[in-house]
Amino acid sequence: MRELRVGCHLSTASGYAAMALDAVSIGATTFAFFTRNPRGGNARQLDEKDLAAFLATLEKHGIGPLVAHAPYTYNLCSSKPETVEFARRAMREDLARMERLPGHLYNFHPGSHVKQGTDEGIRLICEGLNEVLEPGQATTVLLETMAGKGTEVGRSFEELARIIDGVRHDELLGVCLDTCHVADAGYDIVHDLDGVLDEFDRVIGLSRLRALHLNDSKNPLGSHKDRHEKTGAGTLGLETFCAVVTNERLAGLPMVLETPQDGLDGWAHEIALLRGMAAGEATA
Ligand code: FE
Ligand code: FE
Ligand code: ZN
Repeated sequence: MRELRVGCHLSTASGYAAMALDAVSIGATTFAFFTRNPRGGNARQLDEKDLAAFLATLEKHGIGPLVAHAPYTYNLCSSKPETVEFARRAMREDLARMERLPGHLYNFHPGSHVKQGTDEGIRLICEGLNEVLEPGQATTVLLETMAGKGTEVGRSFEELARIIDGVRHDELLGVCLDTCHVADAGYDIVHDLDGVLDEFDRVIGLSRLRALHLNDSKNPLGSHKDRHEKTGAGTLGLETFCAVVTNERLAGLPMVLETPQDGLDGWAHEIALLRGMAAGEATA
């Protein structure tokens, strides 16, 4: 029977230990969280007791790897030097803190080049990563596939491959595939998931694929909008998610829901739904 590593994005508002218990309560075996307030600012100091209880709960319930998410406000390729400097410093701090929970994943949005063009955007992202990544660090950093809204870099597998190519310690890099974003970017995972994975493999290499964000999309293929929808309620539909959770090449990867929900119950329901679909295939 296939064991699905699935969860959702959770809040750190009540602390790390409480977040791990939330994960247990909804049947999650992985999850995401913001490494600091998404509006930016300073990260809270880690509370040692909270951290110990958090790690104990992960261990007891076999939860992980986690997919920590950098705030959306980081932009390694902004046209403003102070914004670039903030992103570099914040990522360094986040990764230093991640060393306290070794072996997990940290994903970020490559950035928006504003009006500087894709080439300059990629150059700045590579320069930033070369400054931020520490050889031997215990966290793998994941570039997220983007919808291509505005001037987002990472709208195609080629752009992600160019970033990876320009980073010295590329052994520390992977990719997080967001189902809403790739569809909005124009990759037809609805009709041809395997063809899209073949393309990913050809351009980036499937061994780089380390996590997925599971989101339905409010908009049609290639819309470049990035508006998430509940699982099955958007243009991807349940069949696409069934194909994702039963795909052999995606087996074992952490899959994190970022669907719009009012509370934990909504995610508990979607997690159960996905597990059911994954198990259904095994018995068929
Ligand atoms: Fe994201
Ligand atoms: Fe995402
Ligand atoms: Zn998104």
